[in-house]
Amino acid sequence: MARSAEVLAKKLGIGSHAVPHAEQRNYIGTDFYRGGTVRMDIGGLHPVKFHAELLRVALASGLPVNSRMYVTLINREGDGLRVVTSAGTVQARQVLVCTDGCTDGAIPFLHRRLVPVRSRIIATEELEPEVMPRLMPKLMMIENRQLGFYYRLSPDDRRILLEGRDSYRVGDPAAPKLFLRKGPVNLFSELENIRLSHSWFGNVAMSRDMLPRIFEKDGMVYATSFCGLGVGWAPWIGTNAADKLLGHSEQARTAFDFRPPAFVPLYRGNP
Ligand SMILES: Cc1cc2nc3c(=O)[nH]c(=O)nc-3n(C[C@H](O)[C@H](O)[C@H](O)COP(=O)(O)OP(=O)(O)OC[C@H]3O[C@@H](n4cnc5c(N)ncnc54)[C@H](O)[C@@H]3O)c2cc1C
Repeated sequence: MARSAEVLAKKLGIGSHAVPHAEQRNYIGTDFYRGGTVRMDIGGLHPVKFHAELLRVALASGLPVNSRMYVTLINREGDGLRVVTSAGTVQARQVLVCTDGCTDGAIPFLHRRLVPVRSRIIATEELEPEVMPRLMPKLMMIENRQLGFYYRLSPDDRRILLEGRDSYRVGDPAAPKLFLRKGPVNLFSELENIRLSHSWFGNVAMSRDMLPRIFEKDGMVYATSFCGLGVGWAPWIGTNAADKLLGHSEQARTAFDFRPPAFVPLYRGNP
């Protein structure tokens, strides 16, 4: 990790440095880890505010937004596409598909290539004001690569929000929350009796190679396969996909403009 941090800093100019175990408690109040890496180019945002602003800009530019309408079928008609929706049929010159983890049966081609996987966030109850400076003194977002979970403070610095995969679709509905609760408890012994105040989940799209991408198939452009990282990826990939639709040839084709995701073996569309 130390070597990677050095390469990122020296070769790519990314603010990045290793944190040895002896200095770890300046960043996080636990001995659970044996050191880590700080990346200054990665941060956090409030996703609801981000979404609200994207929507405001879209509406202000005169774009129609139809939130209560779903596409059931798309097929070729003449030199365009016929898009059947719950509110009627639309004749389209171009279609951009960006349904990611919410991909349903409307485009059968995607059905066995993108696996919707549940991602869940838990929020702890409010902690006493003096606790957080001990636990997360730098107020940084933290990613635990090996265990596949991420955590951060709430915007008022009073709660820990922790995200992880939630693969339970059957059984006790409380089980996924209790499983994720082990995250903060294992990290910080003083949170042994912590209660959770909130928990919510959504689907993220997983593909076999776990690479986000743009691709073109049968006259449609796709921007998808964000594998749980689409808040960062989707605006960039989406902008590139829009350039592609608009035929902006001056924009260089990116490395992420390539083939569709492969079939997932033995997966028949039921996660
Ligand atoms: C709990 C959770 C935590 C996450 N945390 C992070 C994080 O920390 N960092 C990060 O980068 N990403 C995170 N993500 C992932 C991120 O939210 C997604 O990758 C991102 O939202 C994908 O954006 P999108 O616009 O491609 O797709 P989405 O935001 O999933 O939007 C797809 C849209 O397509 C619509 N749709 C689907 N089918 C149809 C149809 N037939 N007709 C019409 N509309 C349709 C859906 O209704 C939906 O509105 C998280 C996701 C979850 C669920």
